[in-house]
Amino acid sequence: MDHPHKKPNEVEQLKSKLLMQVAWYCLFLHAMLILIFLFVEVELLAVFNVLSVATWWFGIKLLQRDHLSLALRIFSLEVTAHSIVVCVLIGTEYGFQFYLWAASCLLLLDVQLKLKQAVIWCTTIIVLFAYTYVGFAHPPYVIAYHEYAPYIHFLNVVVCGIPMIYTIGLIREITINQRKELETLAAHDSLTHLFNRRYALGLIQRAQKSCATQQTPICVVMADIDHFKRVNDRYGHERGDEVIFRVSGQLKQHLNSADIGVRWGGEEFLLVLPNCSLAEAQKRIENIRQAVEAMSFNADDLHVTMSFGIALWRSTQSFESALKHADIALYNSKHKGRNTLTVAPESV
Ligand code: GH3
Ligand code: MG
Ligand code: MG
Repeated sequence: MDHPHKKPNEVEQLKSKLLMQVAWYCLFLHAMLILIFLFVEVELLAVFNVLSVATWWFGIKLLQRDHLSLALRIFSLEVTAHSIVVCVLIGTEYGFQFYLWAASCLLLLDVQLKLKQAVIWCTTIIVLFAYTYVGFAHPPYVIAYHEYAPYIHFLNVVVCGIPMIYTIGLIREITINQRKELETLAAHDSLTHLFNRRYALGLIQRAQKSCATQQTPICVVMADIDHFKRVNDRYGHERGDEVIFRVSGQLKQHLNSADIGVRWGGEEFLLVLPNCSLAEAQKRIENIRQAVEAMSFNADDLHVTMSFGIALWRSTQSFESALKHADIALYNSKHKGRNTLTVAPESV
């Protein structure tokens, strides 16, 4: 069964995995920059890049030990310090200031940092970005191959932009998937994965409205496992759960995509069959009854049967009234000796 705290950890793990990829990308990038800065004879920046490679390496080690938050802060600090140092030394012509945007995004991923704090830090970094154009217009170094500055600028914008798009895109996917999973969790019963009662009510009302508009019949079926208490008593609660799970699987196999299968109570199920006549419902439910009866379980002598009550849901009728008729029909099935189906007399 899903534990409510399981999902956030999975998200953090995915974030960590993604960050690990970004970290390796940055480590190699800085290693390349050592060579480039040596080539253009800015040894100070080459030395700085050696420190950067060491920092990214340290951060990767932290990620491997699950210290995501600390790793993010170190990465962000490294990128910020590095961008500023480069801009101080060679100015903004080469576009190294754009890495400040990446540093800002990295910091936002640290969920242990309170939003207010994160916003203050990120804003500071972006203000620093803006300041680079004012404060570092006349750098002390003019590097060799200065004429290539526009191309380096171009490259930096692209190199900095791609991981940002990649990261934000992935976070977007995680969020969407998480929302879908939460919706599924909220709509379904955890044991049977059938709809739960609360969520199903909305679906049922919509299905009935649609059938009333199209003037097609809709049937309501109450189904209950026979003598289930005995199953629990004889084989234990866990085996009882397995029976509920397997029976639900059988129900699902027999349902069409428009049908609504609900775990109504413990071993009681509600099936709503839109666009289905009473005769058709009888045929389909008889098939389910036979399929459940034929099921075999690991415990040799364990067999289960189900009783059913079927009612036609007339368009003038409330859901509660149709349900009541199906419930009385189910009671009659039990009364007749179980393992059978009964049609509510009001439906014929
Ligand atoms: P009948 O044929 O008249 O329906 O008899 P029954 O024994 O099936 O019905 P009853 O309502 O007396 O007992 C239902 C039992 O189902 C009682 C309850 O402990 C058990 N039950 C309810 N929910 C669960 C569940 O999720 N798992 C298990 N293992 N048992 C459950
Ligand atoms: Mg029962
Ligand atoms: Mg019952």
